[in-house]
Amino acid sequence: MNVSVYTMQDLYSVKMRASRMVCDKNEHISGAEKIIHENQMNRCVDNLIFRGFHHEKGKADFINIKLQKVNTDEIVYFDALPVTNVEVSNWQEGYETIKQFLKKSGVVKYNEIMDFLPQTMAMRGAMLLDVNSLMRLEPDLNRGIRATNMDQERNSDYVVSNSKNHYEEAIVLATKVANCPGIVGEICISDDPNYITGYFASKELGYIRISKLKEMGSEFGGRIFLFDGSQYDYNEAINYLQNTYVIVKNMKQFDAVENTKSKVDKWKHLQEQLEDLKTNNLYRTMKQFESSQGAHVCYNGRDIVLMASNSYLDITAHAHIKKYTKEIIDRYGYGSGGSRLTTGNTDIHELLEKKIADFKKCESALVFSSGYVANVATISALVSEGDVIFSDVLNHASIIDGCRLSKAKVVLYKHNDMEDFEKKIKETSFHHALAVSDAVFSMDGDILKLNEFVEICERYNIYSMIDEAHATGVIGQTGHGIVEHYNTDKMPDIMMGTLSKAIGGEGGYVTGNRILIEYLKNKARGFIFSTSLSQASMACGIAGIEIIEQEPERVKKLQQNVKYFCACLRHNGLNVDSETAIVPILVHDEKKALKLSEYLLEKGYYISAIRYPTVAKNSARLRVAIMSTHSKKELKEVAGYICEFLGIGEKNG
Ligand SMILES: *Cc1c(COP(=O)(O)O)cnc(C)c1O
Repeated sequence: MNVSVYTMQDLYSVKMRASRMVCDKNEHISGAEKIIHENQMNRCVDNLIFRGFHHEKGKADFINIKLQKVNTDEIVYFDALPVTNVEVSNWQEGYETIKQFLKKSGVVKYNEIMDFLPQTMAMRGAMLLDVNSLMRLEPDLNRGIRATNMDQERNSDYVVSNSKNHYEEAIVLATKVANCPGIVGEICISDDPNYITGYFASKELGYIRISKLKEMGSEFGGRIFLFDGSQYDYNEAINYLQNTYVIVKNMKQFDAVENTKSKVDKWKHLQEQLEDLKTNNLYRTMKQFESSQGAHVCYNGRDIVLMASNSYLDITAHAHIKKYTKEIIDRYGYGSGGSRLTTGNTDIHELLEKKIADFKKCESALVFSSGYVANVATISALVSEGDVIFSDVLNHASIIDGCRLSKAKVVLYKHNDMEDFEKKIKETSFHHALAVSDAVFSMDGDILKLNEFVEICERYNIYSMIDEAHATGVIGQTGHGIVEHYNTDKMPDIMMGTLSKAIGGEGGYVTGNRILIEYLKNKARGFIFSTSLSQASMACGIAGIEIIEQEPERVKKLQQNVKYFCACLRHNGLNVDSETAIVPILVHDEKKALKLSEYLLEKGYYISAIRYPTVAKNSARLRVAIMSTHSKKELKEVAGYICEFLGIGEKNG
């Protein structure tokens, strides 16, 4: 007899659980289970370990892999539940839909059952609820019941992928549960904040996928197994759910179901997301001003004190800017007519770049259409796939987008934490790396530890890049930015900034040595493939820089105003400090931040509430932006209103 042992493929159950310690608590990261053929085991384990290490929740420090041979006689096979999609317009309607299906399934207490959902939230497993007595039947009320030992039918050439198919896994689980003796239905809402769907499933009605059962961003989720204890023994049910091996067949139909997605109304899809933003107080609208940008603006016909503008030196309507820009328009007209590398370059463009390079004490400068484009174009030109970018977690969105576009590996480090920065560098291997940071953080108003930042970059031979959008014209004794602020010779390799904030115009720039600028002219796609800004915009930038040079008292006044405003807040009992024009006042709650902003508007002060996604969820804040032209009286008064609203200290007297 000549029988090869390899023709006999045993089935194995593979389970993976990844977790990590966070503040002394074991945090679950990801889990998976498969029932696969013996020959697939190595690949499967490889890929499951990869999942544990590359999950968006973080990198696992503990991965438990369990392999167990499955006796084929013990396996029960079921056909996958048929799927129905139900589109609802909000979660309330979703709840009503579930109630209707409960009713259809003969569950009398369908109203009360929905009230049990919040109790399931902290549980790893599901609640086992008796539909008649409404008693909870799980032996361990904290853990709940976990349905396990199941998978869909796999061919012997199946390869476990690195990512999860949540939808297929849900159908496998729902099919096993629906076939459990005594179970009359299952309710499930995903706890993933990025999913708002859920389902009701039963053997009789199949898998009913409901488009909305919660609000986007919510971590609410839970699972209830509904059990009819009048005819069945729940211990048997628990035993089946936890121990019986189930393989679900005929999953093919779900490709077709996924395809029905494309038939969903595409505009409704967008509309729903807008509704979500509204219910979460994250919807944005544009305000309309009827005057130039200054310390006072005309808004809805009223004179309002503007404390939200990036025009910190209040020069957008300065006589010099107006006069010089008009002159240039008279000479050159408006549009530039081409990209800088084709026909869109003039002596005025070159003049502005000379001014910027001198102002920043660098060899060379290059102007881009905006600060946003400057970051995206520069970062994506300097590094690419295979390289590494070290980036502060609080960096501006335009830096983040530049990182994404570059395809380099992005390693985030803790906000302005130079120890963590160096630690991350040591942990990472690279040939070329770029470190990038806001010089003044746009939503927190704090300043980069420049000396350490540059020293570390030099030590590890990394390009150092800073974004001075809120630093230029603001910090440093004469407004020249962060290098002047620290009075240091630690000059970063790449200094990016914008002409749109303190300088009072529009456009972005990068300064550095000649090699850098020559490289960007040849490689930065956002520079090459876009029409250059007009000569008038260049003129405005030139005049803006000249004003900062010629009227240093503006910068001084701005810095004094910040000091005075913070002192007023502290006098009222609110402990706030800032060295930049940005003074954040943390409110946390999104709605409260909006309310405070509305309250101040009633009082005649326009200050923006900043919310997710500009800042993290639940760190909503009032972002006060000081100008050099705010009066002491205004600063004191608004500090009083803010503290009064927040219930801090005494009323402004
Ligand atoms: C505003 C800003 C930018 C973008 O500059 P724009 O000229 O407005 O496009 C880039 N980085 C930071 C930190 C900013 O605050």
